[in-house]
Amino acid sequence: MSKYTVALDFGHGGADPGAMWMGVRESWLVREIGRHLVHHLTIISQGEISVVCVAPLDNEFAGKDSLSHRAMLVNSSKADIVVSVHINAATNPRASGFEVIYCPGSRKGLILADQIHEALDTGDNGNILPRRPGPITDIQCGRGFGFTMLRKTRPPAAIVEAGFITNDRDQVEIVENCSNISTCIAVGIWNYFTGD
Ligand SMILES: [Zn+2]
Repeated sequence: MSKYTVALDFGHGGADPGAMWMGVRESWLVREIGRHLVHHLTIISQGEISVVCVAPLDNEFAGKDSLSHRAMLVNSSKADIVVSVHINAATNPRASGFEVIYCPGSRKGLILADQIHEALDTGDNGNILPRRPGPITDIQCGRGFGFTMLRKTRPPAAIVEAGFITNDRDQVEIVENCSNISTCIAVGIWNYFTGD
């Protein structure tokens, strides 16, 4: 019997490719990171973490209400936390680095985001992508209340934007390091639970 339950949301999939740049789709990258993340969470916690994927790895979510639907799945899953994985995009091709976003006012969301941010920055497999200041709230990252996974979910939540698909160097690093990036995210999640 596992001790903790983590709801994982992979930002895009099915008919929704997310951001696209130079022929690479955000949905492919988050699916790949997600696949590794499920594996690493089980290994690192020696089975104490069970994972609920609210956007299945082969998901076909495409409806307008897909995000609200996924938030509802999180809320009915009894998950202790929810982590959503995305790849960032910007009109400025120089924008690069990872960001971890939490809901303002959520103390536990901040701790979770901080642990993931720290692991991506300084963990064993960290420092793959440049550091951006953080963790930050959805307001600070300029998207207002746009993140359903932060705003409509009950458990502490963090959104990981694992680099910019629109930055050539980030894109290469993400493509080559899906496993390492997911290891860092897993370490951050585990440290949140164990208080390290
Ligand atoms: Zn996205």
